[in-house]
Amino acid sequence: MEIKIEELKVLFSEEQIQTRIKELAQEMNSFYAGEEVIAVCVLKGAVMFAVDLVKNLDMPLKMEFIRLSSYGSSTSTSGKVNAVDIKLPDLNGKNVLIIEDIVDTGLTAKFLLDFMHCNFNAKSIKFCSLLDKKITRKVDIEPDYYGFDVDDKFVVGYGLDYDGYYRNLKYIGYKELS
Ligand code: 5GP
Repeated sequence: MEIKIEELKVLFSEEQIQTRIKELAQEMNSFYAGEEVIAVCVLKGAVMFAVDLVKNLDMPLKMEFIRLSSYGSSTSTSGKVNAVDIKLPDLNGKNVLIIEDIVDTGLTAKFLLDFMHCNFNAKSIKFCSLLDKKITRKVDIEPDYYGFDVDDKFVVGYGLDYDGYYRNLKYIGYKELS
């Protein structure tokens, strides 16, 4: 499948995304209330979401960035997750908030949660994803926080790419299959 910009339909507008992020941030501000949080952004897809989310969080916060990859085509994942770059400080006793773009099969989320549990004795580990594609789930995993449900569509924009492109869009779009 090829995706051209003029074929994209808006699924979530910039305004919808920003409104939902503020709601999520409000929930997190009450949950963590003054506790320090280490926000772990999963590159590259979650970068826009993580930046906008943390700007609305008011607890003491540090940001970390990790990079994973899963082999596959431009529009589907293979299911094999690879740690490309995970250099994290000591997270023992910390409140860890993992920030992802989308939970699809759930394999990346599972990999990350297992990684955190195996390597650290964190005070808390929460998983936050902008999008939740429940219909394609292969492992039993649910994000603690998520922005929007998505059905079985390949979406782009606002950090999510097609072949490296479209991360810079302010909205999330998809190509309607004809
Ligand atoms: P998983 O299948 O492991 O839950 O998802 C892993 C990754 O696949 C996501 O972090 C994201 O980078 C990519 N992915 C899954 N669904 C989509 C989608 O609809 N659009 C884009 N651009 N990437 C997706």
